[in-house]
Amino acid sequence: MRLQSIQHKKAILSDWIPFSNHDKSIFPLAVLPSHHTLSRMSIRLYDSLSRSIREVSPSEGDTYRFYCCGPTVYGPAHIGNFRTFVMQDVFRRTLETAGQALIHVRNLTDVDDKTIRESRAAGQSLRDFTRHWTETFHADCESLNLLPPHVEPAATEHIDAQIDLIKKLIAKGHAYSTAEGSVYFRVSSFSDYGKLSRLKEREIRTNALPVEGSPVDADEYQRDSAADFALWKARKPEDGDVFWVSPWGEGRPGWHLECSAMSMTYLGESFDMHGGGIDLVFPHHENEIAQSEACTCKTFAHHWFHAAHLMVEGSKMSKSLGNLHTLKDVEARGYSPAALRYVLLSGHYRQPLNFTWDSLHSAESALDRLARFRDALTARFDKTAPAVSTPSAEPPDWGAFQSAWEILSEDLNTPAALGAIFTALKGIHPAQLTPARAKAEWQALSRLLQAFGLRLPEAKKAAAAPPEISALAEERWQAKQQRDFAAADRLRQQLKAAGWLVLDQKEGYSLEPATN
Ligand code: AMP
Ligand code: ZN
Repeated sequence: MRLQSIQHKKAILSDWIPFSNHDKSIFPLAVLPSHHTLSRMSIRLYDSLSRSIREVSPSEGDTYRFYCCGPTVYGPAHIGNFRTFVMQDVFRRTLETAGQALIHVRNLTDVDDKTIRESRAAGQSLRDFTRHWTETFHADCESLNLLPPHVEPAATEHIDAQIDLIKKLIAKGHAYSTAEGSVYFRVSSFSDYGKLSRLKEREIRTNALPVEGSPVDADEYQRDSAADFALWKARKPEDGDVFWVSPWGEGRPGWHLECSAMSMTYLGESFDMHGGGIDLVFPHHENEIAQSEACTCKTFAHHWFHAAHLMVEGSKMSKSLGNLHTLKDVEARGYSPAALRYVLLSGHYRQPLNFTWDSLHSAESALDRLARFRDALTARFDKTAPAVSTPSAEPPDWGAFQSAWEILSEDLNTPAALGAIFTALKGIHPAQLTPARAKAEWQALSRLLQAFGLRLPEAKKAAAAPPEISALAEERWQAKQQRDFAAADRLRQQLKAAGWLVLDQKEGYSLEPATN
């Protein structure tokens, strides 16, 4: 398990006190964000269970507890996976910006059919194989500026908790074992089954049946109903040395069970939010609800957050179409991880997003435009002066970026919020601002960029220009945006006289030293 916090990266396992109903001190200070004293601002988010946009707030106490299904570590995560992880990261950052204390748990699926099959193909132990892909995943997350979850539990380290859950389900009559030593959840025993995906019973049965022509476990035929799903899988020859001993014999847990066991271990039987990609709604999350609520008779997660899929050039990403891209592929084409992050935020999370290589190009221009604006703003005040600390109970001054923040707070509308940032930029003339106002606007913008998790690059070319030249160029750009072409021309001449050429582009401009 990996445990990290924003302030205390070296927090150790003993800092962590797993949840128990009698112990309310489950959130050691080490995991609280530093600005949790801010007065809280309202955030709303669509809930896939109630199918409505609901206020995000802790159901109990002051800390918001949420769990996200993590990666299956058998290869590099693709950029579609990262759409979901980036949206979850923006959700967390937005809550933190709003002053909400929180705890974020994201698991590692380090045992399933794929990890076993691929580790055997690679001639490695499951542990060595999954460790390698976990490290690759962490490196990608860092490049994409994803905050590490406060707890990152691995399925193989929580086998006992999974076995305990199965024992309870059998004792309550919700699960049964077969002669081969597998255990199944009896779907008909849980009357709320289907409440998340809203699939009718007939559809659930059809979905649960093996696809015609696909290999079927002989063991699967021992299920009482085709809809029943495995909680424990009896050991098979192809599992090799991957097995654990249980009351039902050697085997391994079913995939759905790990998330119920680990979320409840760290967040309690009832917690605030559970998230994942849209493909997880059925059967994974439906099954998690069934096994958890059948066991505890309590609401499992109060809010469900699902991100729609990333498509590639209009098609579903898949290995067979050869359009499954990774962060490495993006970097190999010369684009930055920040540009990929920008692209992933350029669509609303509830709509499928079409990835194109051109969109990365536009994202680089947009980031450069923001970087140049930053340079023009920060040139207006003394960055070395000590920051004036504002009373933490006061809401922050969003200045010209108020509407961008409000749009982000309403169901994480990242594309519209990014649009509102660029609209705000058009109305700000850095050269005309007092140093105090320039600083306040920069603080508001950087707080927003932090919520988006966007790190700005060095501005291109214009970086070489002295601050007063950058400020003049920015003023000219603003004049042009306001269609004040006379002022824009005058400023262009002024820049030329100072030895600088302005080159206009689709999304902004660049500055180059004049050669004659
Ligand atoms: P996996 O590693 O397959 O367990 O998936 C990790 C996360 O990525 C899960 O939340 C999936 O739902 C999500 N995911 C998978 N494919 C896509 C995609 N094309 N777009 C967005 N999210 C995805
Ligand atoms: Zn899961």
